[in-house]
Amino acid sequence: MNRYWKRLYSLFIILLLVCSMLTACTGEKIKKYQKDVFALNTWLSFTVYGDRNGERIIDTAIERVREIENRMSITIEDSDVSRINSNAGKKPVKVNNDTLEVIEKGLEYGRISHGAFDITIYPIVKLWGITSEHPKVPTEKEVQDKLSLVNYGGVIVDGHNNTVYLKKEGMGIDLGAIAKGYAADEIVRVLKEGGIQHALINMGGNVIVIGGKPDGKPWRIGIQDPRAEEGHKSHIAIVEIMDGSVVSSGDYERYIVEVYNKTGVRYHHIFDPNTGYPADQGLMGTTVIAEHSIDADALSTAVFVMGIHEGFQIIDQMENVKALTITKNKEIYTSQGFGEGFILTDKEYKIVP
Ligand code: ADP
Ligand code: MG
Repeated sequence: MNRYWKRLYSLFIILLLVCSMLTACTGEKIKKYQKDVFALNTWLSFTVYGDRNGERIIDTAIERVREIENRMSITIEDSDVSRINSNAGKKPVKVNNDTLEVIEKGLEYGRISHGAFDITIYPIVKLWGITSEHPKVPTEKEVQDKLSLVNYGGVIVDGHNNTVYLKKEGMGIDLGAIAKGYAADEIVRVLKEGGIQHALINMGGNVIVIGGKPDGKPWRIGIQDPRAEEGHKSHIAIVEIMDGSVVSSGDYERYIVEVYNKTGVRYHHIFDPNTGYPADQGLMGTTVIAEHSIDADALSTAVFVMGIHEGFQIIDQMENVKALTITKNKEIYTSQGFGEGFILTDKEYKIVP
């Protein structure tokens, strides 16, 4: 081949490559994929818009969630968290980077919330057993005994050797208030790496979205009615967002139903580390909107424990974080800058200016 033909030949190859890339990008129709799986103790529901690889990308994200669950679940015997807890007061335990990162974030929120958020709440969580098969209302003495073990200052993280050590025997960590948020952020990372530009993932109270809807409009997320009857879930408001996470916490997710039906007292699963009893700041629910789900998750729990006044003080100091709280008398309080993209749908609830 002479030089002229060689050049023409390589030009032809380049043209061919560009053409095939273009059809891959533009010629293929974007499809909607939906998938529901049970993980992290809740139903995860994926709505993803993508090309023909959509299903495979969702499966990769689910695998990632299972990996995180196997490391951070309190009910899996050889998880990092279980090993840390069974070695409390004995020795430091080597853990995966995921676990280390979530623990460090958890400790940071412990400091930010002045101890309202405390990952060493596990002795209290276990005592009440709200999410277990046999929940019970413990005695005051039992609560005080376990409360003496709750202190996030007793968690020693060695980032150099990747170890975590709990200072006292009987101490325990529980990442239940933050791990789902971390998993949500990892789902988003995996989906984005797979080229996904529009997605909504609902993880039972934790919602995270990529971009807006395919038509360019924001996603609309319903804020659940905290007093909706089981099986009749309805929402009281709608929040519109693009790229970000909306996380709700409240006294309605898990509580001792038998006691509630008999006495009207709701012993639920979010504890006040100051008292050892379910947090009671007059709230039924909190919702936090943030860019990253791990922040929204930790903060929605923290604000629920802290209450409106103190809770909003920390929210208002943060950039691009918004919160709303729902009181037991059906009043809605919002932090600074919440107005836009917030639509009240249930007139029984009132927004307090
Ligand atoms: P959900 O699990 O319903 O999404 P949260 O994110 O608020 O709700 O997490 C609640 C879980 O967090 C509890 O089941 C418990 O394991 C743990 N937890 C309870 N109280 C606290 C607290 N004060 N600080 C940190 N974690 C907590
Ligand atoms: Mg939370």
